[in-house]
Amino acid sequence: MRHIAIIGSGPAGYYTAEAAQKRWEDDVRIDIFDMLPVPYGLIRTGVAPDHQSIKGVSRRYEKTALSDNVRFVGNVCVGRDVTIAELQQSYDAVVLATGAPNDRPLGIPGAELGNVFGSAAFVGWYNGHPQFADLDPNLSGRHAVVIGMGNVALDVARILAKTEGEFAGADIVTHALDALRASRLQTITIVGRRGPHQIMMTPKELGELAQLERASPRVDRDDLPDEGEDALLEPGLRKSVAHLRSFAAIPESVHADKPIEIAFDMFASPHELLGDGSVRAIRLERTTVEAGRARGTGEFYDIPADLVVSCIGYRTSPIPEVPFDERAGCFANDEGRILPGIYCVGWARRGPSGTIGTNRPDGFGVVEKIAEDIDSGALGRAERKGRAGFDALASERGLDIVTFRDWKKIEEAEEQAAREGAPREKFVDIAAMIKARG
Ligand code: NAP
Repeated sequence: MRHIAIIGSGPAGYYTAEAAQKRWEDDVRIDIFDMLPVPYGLIRTGVAPDHQSIKGVSRRYEKTALSDNVRFVGNVCVGRDVTIAELQQSYDAVVLATGAPNDRPLGIPGAELGNVFGSAAFVGWYNGHPQFADLDPNLSGRHAVVIGMGNVALDVARILAKTEGEFAGADIVTHALDALRASRLQTITIVGRRGPHQIMMTPKELGELAQLERASPRVDRDDLPDEGEDALLEPGLRKSVAHLRSFAAIPESVHADKPIEIAFDMFASPHELLGDGSVRAIRLERTTVEAGRARGTGEFYDIPADLVVSCIGYRTSPIPEVPFDERAGCFANDEGRILPGIYCVGWARRGPSGTIGTNRPDGFGVVEKIAEDIDSGALGRAERKGRAGFDALASERGLDIVTFRDWKKIEEAEEQAAREGAPREKFVDIAAMIKARG
């Protein structure tokens, strides 16, 4: 029997479990740990609340979760409640699927001012992550600045721009919906240090900006390269650039009809945040792009900013004793191998890139490595106790484990508490989640 511990119940974790099941069928037992009492990681707290179809992938994970040889072990924080070394005593392989939950720091003066947030915190706030439920951003100003030109920047800009009606069917938490209802924002500026040909935004998501009820996207024609140059782009990026071109062609009369403008400020690198206690403006340096890299021109200008959300990527949380690659912001690894018996997968392996589906081949890849190491004897030949070993430790420590069956009760309570038309009202507090399991 093989015993595998997977740390993290997001897409990378569940795809790894699925791969291990396919590989060893009845000869494997898999425990999936999560520090929260609820599963699915990024699907629950990262994917935008108005993108419910993407969240539907959790049904596939549920199928894996309900198999006899897979177990969800919620409310256990590895590194705090139990160490990796302790897990190694019970499991043949420990797979870190912990994602990248921390913001890459902006690293400019003023980043500590009030009403400046990283996207992990801001997205966590509107998605009901217990760590960020109390963020309480101030949306009473007129001007928001969103830094970065990836899909997370798009999510944040779109959520800030939507009307209450546009959240019908979304599982945005009520505290965020209430705050957005009272928002007085008039401009949302998306700041990018490079140009249209270097955006990381995918076409479907970018196109949504043109469909918003009360907001219209604005692109400066002068920022766009000659149209002929688009032919060299890969097809997805070419489509995204076509959206930017269509935004640049939106007539002033349409902008005038919409109370919120989502303006793209490209070739602009954040230099400093200005304010007194709370942020009031951002100082940007005009850039040019040379050989694909942004170069400062020495020309600076300020734009008003009452709220700043920086969406410039994420870092994995280090775990004591596990080698970490500070530059890449993820575990130091060789194709998923960290140390004998310790592996990583998904964003914890390769950094925060790719779609949810990218994690599936990742999961299958790491299971192949584990299989090679088990077969070669690299992990030792001693039979491990697996979940029985962990359970003994957990009861010794008095850990309050949340099972998948408990989660189903929490889920039912969330569904019952949903606003009309919404799929669920998430608990945003760990104690409330635990209470809801009955
Ligand atoms: P991303 O796609 O890597 O975009 C990060 C952006 O931040 C880039 O435009 C980057 O510019 C910019 N940036 C980085 N450092 C900066 C700095 N110091 N100053 C200014 N700008 C800076 O990351 P993401 O948006 O966080 O998304 C993470 C992953 O999740 C991506 O794979 C994304 O596609 C995925 N995602 C998908 C969806 C969806 O499919 N609906 C939704 C959300 C996220 P440079 O390019 O110049 O470095």
